[in-house]
Amino acid sequence: MEPRTREDLDRIPGYRQGRSAVAGDAPSHKLSSNENPYDPLPSVQRRIAELLGRINLYPDMAGAALVPELARRHGVDPARIVLGAGSVEVVSQLIRATAGPGEEVLFAWRSFEAYPLLVVSAGAVPVQVPLTTDLAHDLPAMLAAITDRTRLVVVCNPNNPTGTVVGAAELDAFLDAVPAHVVVLIDEAYREFDTSTDRPDGVALAEERPNVVVAHTFSKAYGLAGVRVGYAIAPVAVAEAMRKVAVPFGVTGLAQAAAAASLDAQDELLDRVRALVAERERVVAALVAQGWELATTQANFVWLPTGESTEQAVAVLERHGVLARAFPDEGVRVSIGTFEANNAVLAACAELRAAVAA
Ligand SMILES: *Cc1c(COP(=O)(O)O)cnc(C)c1O
Repeated sequence: MEPRTREDLDRIPGYRQGRSAVAGDAPSHKLSSNENPYDPLPSVQRRIAELLGRINLYPDMAGAALVPELARRHGVDPARIVLGAGSVEVVSQLIRATAGPGEEVLFAWRSFEAYPLLVVSAGAVPVQVPLTTDLAHDLPAMLAAITDRTRLVVVCNPNNPTGTVVGAAELDAFLDAVPAHVVVLIDEAYREFDTSTDRPDGVALAEERPNVVVAHTFSKAYGLAGVRVGYAIAPVAVAEAMRKVAVPFGVTGLAQAAAAASLDAQDELLDRVRALVAERERVVAALVAQGWELATTQANFVWLPTGESTEQAVAVLERHGVLARAFPDEGVRVSIGTFEANNAVLAACAELRAAVAA
C-alpha cells in the first residue's frame, strides 16, 4: 500500500520556477521571474546584517517593525494590514479565509500561475474566465461567471503574464456590480510599473469598499524577492480570518526589516522603477519596429505572442543568453532587465522575426 495523498492534487501541476541558468557557460540573463535586476541597496543590506545576531529568536508575528509604517504611509488602520511571506502567501491566506470545499474562486486566464494551485490546495474550485483577444481581463464575462458558490474574485492588475491593465472606471463599474458578500482581490504586484493615466488605486478602493482587498509585494519594484515579504490591506474581519489561516511566523524579522528599510529608501527605489519603465518603453518600441504585435504592457515584462513557435522562440532566446518564461503554444514572458540583457532580447527577437518572415 502506498501512502495516501489527496487525489485532487493529481489534477494540478506544481509551481514551476523560472529557470536560472542556460546550459554551458554562455553569459545568461535571467528574465524568467520578473525579478528586479538591480543589486539590493547597501542601506537594506546593512539593516539585515544588523539583525543577524538575533536570528535565534522568533520574529514578531504582528509585524511590529513594518505594519505601523505601512499603515502610516497608506493612511489605513493597522488592523487591516496582513503580512505574508511574499504576497503569494497573502493571496493564499485570502483564498483559504474565503473559500472552502465546493466554493468557487474566480480569476482571469491566463493569469498568475499560482492562483489555480492555491485554490485547489485550499480544496476550493478554480473558475477561469478567458482573457479578451487583447489579452486583458474580460470583466463583463467575469461578472457573468459569478454564482451562488463564488466566494472570491481575483483581478490581477497589471496582469501577469500579459502586462495588460484594467482602467479605473471599468473596475469601478465591475465592483459596483459584484454582490457585497463576494470578496474581490486586486493583486497589484506590478503596480509601481503601471504608468497608465487611469490606473485604479487599489488601496483607495479597499478603503472605500467593504468587500475589496488589495495585495502588494516587496518582491518586484522593491527588489526583495529573496526575503519573501508582501502584504494585504483588507476589511478588519477578513484580515482577522487571514491571520488565522497563516502559517505562524512566516514573515521573518529579516524580511520585515528589509521591507521597512526599503520604505525608507523609497525615492531611490522608485528611481530604479522609472529606469525600468523607460527600458520597457525602449524594448516595446524596438519590438514594434521589428513588426511584433504586442498587447500594451504596464508591468516589468513583455508578453511575446509566439503561439506555436514558442519552443523555437525559447531556443533562440537561449542562444542569446536569455532565460524567459515559456507557456507552450501560447507565448513567452520576458522580464525587463539591464540594458545589456534587454539588448540581448531585442537581438533574439529580431532573429525570430526574420525566421518567421523567411
Ligand atoms: C510576483 C507576483 C506576486 C508576488 O510574489 P511574492 O514574491 O510572493 O511577493 C503576486 N502576484 C503576482 C501576479 C505576481 O506576479
